[in-house]
Amino acid sequence: QREALKRKRPFLIFSAELDVPNKVIEILTKVKDDLNEGRIEVIFQPKVELQTFKIVGAEALMRCSVPPADAIPVIVEYSLMYDVGRKILEKSFYYTKLLEEKGFGVPISVNISYVQLADRQFVRFVKKLLKKFSLEGNRFIFEITESEASLDDECIVETISQLRKMGIGISIDDFGMGYSSLSRLKLLKACELKIDRAFIKDVDKDPEILGIVKFAVDVASLLSMRTVAEGIERKDQVPILRRVGCSEGQGFLFSPPVEFREFVELLKKGYLRPKGVK
Ligand code: C2E
Ligand code: MG
Ligand code: MG
Ligand code: MG
Repeated sequence: QREALKRKRPFLIFSAELDVPNKVIEILTKVKDDLNEGRIEVIFQPKVELQTFKIVGAEALMRCSVPPADAIPVIVEYSLMYDVGRKILEKSFYYTKLLEEKGFGVPISVNISYVQLADRQFVRFVKKLLKKFSLEGNRFIFEITESEASLDDECIVETISQLRKMGIGISIDDFGMGYSSLSRLKLLKACELKIDRAFIKDVDKDPEILGIVKFAVDVASLLSMRTVAEGIERKDQVPILRRVGCSEGQGFLFSPPVEFREFVELLKKGYLRPKGVK
């Protein structure tokens, strides 16, 4: 794991050992305490079908005692994602089992970071969890950011292909922000492309941005992938995303990430139609 990180970010490992800013140490200490004292949690942001606003899944997002914008980059950079990632997976599987017991079969998306994919025990760990909760792989989608999915590492391609064989869906997260080649996208055989919020933000205002989004949707459709628009905040974004063929959406317009119990309530209603949208 350390070797893998070194290959990816040689300078950060260097600074990690010699010169860690106080703020980072403070965050690391808090997250380690959270881990030891059971304060790592996941909350759920619903994903909706854009034509009908039906809830078709949710993304599990990690929460701890440090705000996510501060915590997550530090967890990833300083090798804590190995342990934290296992905890997140365990929680996500646990809640997915609860959902199943309540009769809800929507797939749950879990963010997986590079250190996890590079871990040779990762596939075995996931298999063990599926068995422990007696769940099928197709209950899950693993989201891998585009920049990490494009890393030229045979081990990652192999891990992803094994996950796929277990029925787990693969989603390319934050698409448009990395630099993956189209051949790479084809190779990974993902089922879903999540277009980054940076593009969705102005999709109804900037024709060039709209062109890029349409291009992404077309590429996805050529490769038989669904598209999810991330971070939809305004209702004006909806008709334009529908028009270019984007199948699903996620964002504050529909729902912020919510605690498990609230997510269950939303699932009971089944739909998240924003006011004033047909
Ligand atoms: P992401 O995977 O792209 O997740 C989407 C982020 O956008 C989430 O932030 C979510 O709360 C936020 N978001 C959703 N809708 C809107 C919206 O309409 N407007 C705005 N402004 N934001 C919206 P969060 O939870 O802070 O997570 C940030 C990033 O941290 C995630 O980006 C993901 O890369 C990473 N992350 C979060 N949870 C986990 C985790 O459990 N494991 C791993 N490896 N990474 C995680
Ligand atoms: Mg994600
Ligand atoms: Mg994303
Ligand atoms: Mg994003």
